[in-house]
Amino acid sequence: MTAYRIAVVGCGVGGMAVATLLAEAGHDVTVYERFAEPRPLGAGLLLQPTGLKVLHRLGIETAALEAGARIAGIDGRTTRGRQVLHLAYSDLDARLHGLGIHRGALFRLLFDRLKRSPATLVTASEVAAIATTATQATLRFTNRTAPVSVDLALVADGAHSALRTQFGIPHRAPVYPWGCLWVTLPDPQARFAGVLHQRFADSRVMVGALPVGRRPDDPAGTPCITVFWSLPARHIDAARTAGIAALKANIGRHWPDLAEPLADLRDMEQVAGATYRHVAMPRWSRDRVAFLGDCAHGTSPQLGQGANMALLDAATLASALAQTNDIASGLAMAEAARQGPTRFYRQASHLLTPFYQSHLMPLGWLRDLSFGTLCTLAPTRNMMLSTLAGVRRSWWHTFDLDADGRPDLPLV
Ligand SMILES: Cc1cc2nc3c(=O)[nH]c(=O)nc-3n(C[C@H](O)[C@H](O)[C@H](O)COP(=O)(O)OP(=O)(O)OC[C@H]3O[C@@H](n4cnc5c(N)ncnc54)[C@H](O)[C@@H]3O)c2cc1C
Repeated sequence: MTAYRIAVVGCGVGGMAVATLLAEAGHDVTVYERFAEPRPLGAGLLLQPTGLKVLHRLGIETAALEAGARIAGIDGRTTRGRQVLHLAYSDLDARLHGLGIHRGALFRLLFDRLKRSPATLVTASEVAAIATTATQATLRFTNRTAPVSVDLALVADGAHSALRTQFGIPHRAPVYPWGCLWVTLPDPQARFAGVLHQRFADSRVMVGALPVGRRPDDPAGTPCITVFWSLPARHIDAARTAGIAALKANIGRHWPDLAEPLADLRDMEQVAGATYRHVAMPRWSRDRVAFLGDCAHGTSPQLGQGANMALLDAATLASALAQTNDIASGLAMAEAARQGPTRFYRQASHLLTPFYQSHLMPLGWLRDLSFGTLCTLAPTRNMMLSTLAGVRRSWWHTFDLDADGRPDLPLV
């Protein structure tokens, strides 16, 4: 195997995973991260069987299962309590489940794993520009660090990437007009354990509660949930300014059962805001630069796939580069494996997000009228479950499971 000099831009989920796998495959890998101290944002994540398979390959799945909370499915109801969504992974296959995990816990596992690999991490290094030829990529930094030339640059700088525009690849990356506020709170009685809970009122109100296990800074402590509160992106700052009492009153009005965990919400510092982009890029590489994760195909978090897809990109790229001595062929192989599933998740996410986060109220009514029935009919239930589990190849096909009950994905 030819060993390459590889630069990875971004110490996020995708960047850490790809750097670890490539460094352990014998490449000379350096990760550049803009922050002096790489850190996760504080929300919980739902990992799917696909993402768990990559954590298994990295040797950190068991630790993730211990840190997080097993998720058997989704229970979505109107704010009046009528069930709209009822999905159980076990209806697809008894061995499947999701994992709710605190973002900080996942970050710490991936970060410690990166540090145990031969990869080098350079922090406080924001990449300002990348120039590429057929044989190398040259990174320039916003600080005074000298430019660095490598055989391959992998850009994993997230949905709000500033580098994506530099390569003449036509793409779209609009900010979705809705976002959310989130906070992680204790759930001492484990009243919310087991499933992802959602409450909706037409398409304009959505509250979610995802069990995420224990905080990374308190591994023996109380199990937690992450509470998500959907709102138009332009209202996020105003909601923060309105203060804790208003936020609690708003959430509590729609979902009184959250009163107990919300009692622990005392300070706006605990609350984070997020906006998302729907990113569509027809190709993910040019010469010696390739994109992965949210930078290449960010979506709203409605389908709970973003971190999983970043992990899948990382594993696929590492396997593809191991199968050939030619970088261009390796990148093409990885892209061929990932484009179909990613296109499906991008389209499905575009289609479904307005049912949950938009001013198109009739979509919410349609959801409440029809989704319950769709969950009970075998073909549509399987479609919904395979979408949730991350195993769809396209609108028509799914990946099978292997003998161990894991998604049988090419190159993962
Ligand atoms: C509210 C919310 C809920 C979510 N829920 C889920 C969920 O349940 N399940 C799921 O799978 N996904 C979920 N996601 C999506 C998931 O968080 C992302 O898909 C995932 O983090 C993408 O990983 P990434 O490696 O592509 O980018 P990121 O994790 O965003 O990492 C990008 C990194 O690049 C660094 N960086 C940026 N620019 C530069 C630069 N120029 N130079 C150097 N470094 C740079 C950043 O500092 C950061 O460390 C959610 C997202 C949000 C906002």
